[in-house]
Amino acid sequence: MAKKIQAIRGMNDTLPEQTPVWQKLESLIRQTVSSYGYSEIRMPIVESTHLFKRSIGEVTDIVEKEMYTFDDRNGDSLTLRPEGTASCVRAGNEHGLLYNQERRMWYIGPMFRHERPQKGRYRQFHQVGIETFGMATPDIDAEVILLSARLWKALGIEQHVELQLNSLGSNEERNAYKEKLVEFLQAHEDQLDEDSKRRMLTNPLRVLDSKNEGVQALLENAPKLSDYFGDETAEHFAKVQAYLDAAGVKYVINERIVRGLDYYNRTVFEWVTSSLGSQGTICAGGRYDGLVEQLGGKATPAVGFAMGLERIILMLETLELNGDVKGDVDIYSILVGENTDVAGFKVAELVRDQLPHLKMMHHCGAGNFKKQMKRADKSGASVALIIGESELEDGTVTIKDLQGNAEQKTVAIDSLVQVLPTYFA
Ligand code: ATP
Ligand code: MG
Repeated sequence: MAKKIQAIRGMNDTLPEQTPVWQKLESLIRQTVSSYGYSEIRMPIVESTHLFKRSIGEVTDIVEKEMYTFDDRNGDSLTLRPEGTASCVRAGNEHGLLYNQERRMWYIGPMFRHERPQKGRYRQFHQVGIETFGMATPDIDAEVILLSARLWKALGIEQHVELQLNSLGSNEERNAYKEKLVEFLQAHEDQLDEDSKRRMLTNPLRVLDSKNEGVQALLENAPKLSDYFGDETAEHFAKVQAYLDAAGVKYVINERIVRGLDYYNRTVFEWVTSSLGSQGTICAGGRYDGLVEQLGGKATPAVGFAMGLERIILMLETLELNGDVKGDVDIYSILVGENTDVAGFKVAELVRDQLPHLKMMHHCGAGNFKKQMKRADKSGASVALIIGESELEDGTVTIKDLQGNAEQKTVAIDSLVQVLPTYFA
């Protein structure tokens, strides 16, 4: 036998048994974003490498070590997108969607990062993101958070997630703070691990979200970013909290949330769960007022988030909320006797014409009655339609209830449209 070819490590198939829960999640997401008036945007999966280097930042985990970058046949450096925000801004600038306008957009699709695969962390994974443009006021920061909160409710996981909120201030405030932070870190360099020592020089804010316990203990005494906030930042942040309070959305302030990407300012947030082990963040986002200009557009304020769908699916599975998803087949039709095949197709097509909301599977591949009934059972259908020679002569078919215990019934083909739906009431 020829050697089997396997999928790339960290890139998963979603098998037919798993797709119903994905479809349920996707449909709740579509419903939720529509209920806030957001429009879908679809971007290519491959972009110019510059786009991500310039937006995400050279000294971030993503750009330093996680991107799938390759030269195409023209020698251009391309990258499989590791996230959606940069592409969305690129598309918005390219098509004139952003300048002097208010936009609320969302996207769904695969993202690619070369990370060590483990539970909740893959090399191809899926994100839903929303990105809003043209609104500088804190109401929109609160709206995107409320939208995500509504989705957790719709999924039934709101008790299992916590909203962590922070403000990163303006560029000037952050720069003033960074200087003080670096002074503090340098004074305690002997207590830093290698990773933090490196970050202290390249991207000092990232030391704040170090996973090292010693570093975390040291940071208790470090200067705080919030002490560097001017009035505008403080007011903006207070207003976001006031909107959340009024909507009854609970949160905790976590000053250690800095986000891995360079482009955030002011409000940042993460939705975190303890039911997934260390891959606990299911949604993260914030304000990124500088990015549109940084990517060549006119300065435009922006707020958004991205959520990881695999982690949400894992949560639904862990909490056993993946539930009762309907099967793929309602009715399974089988053939008995000679010369029923052509008429059988006709009956199945008639049902599909008249009752398009029912899922009608017609038996293909021949076989005796017993084999066909086995297939009908295996399909999960509620009803078998038996199309036999004698029935066809009188223009009837037989309906057999496979799930309940209604009597087997022979009915006129003409009345199928009335009778069949009663099995699915
Ligand atoms: P982490 O700290 O877990 O690496 P991140 O900060 O890199 O996350 P973002 O870039 O903010 O993540 O992406 C938003 C969301 O996308 C994450 O909260 C997570 O739910 C999901 N996500 C990120 N990377 C992966 C991955 N490799 N596999 C699965 N989901 C992921
Ligand atoms: Mg990451």
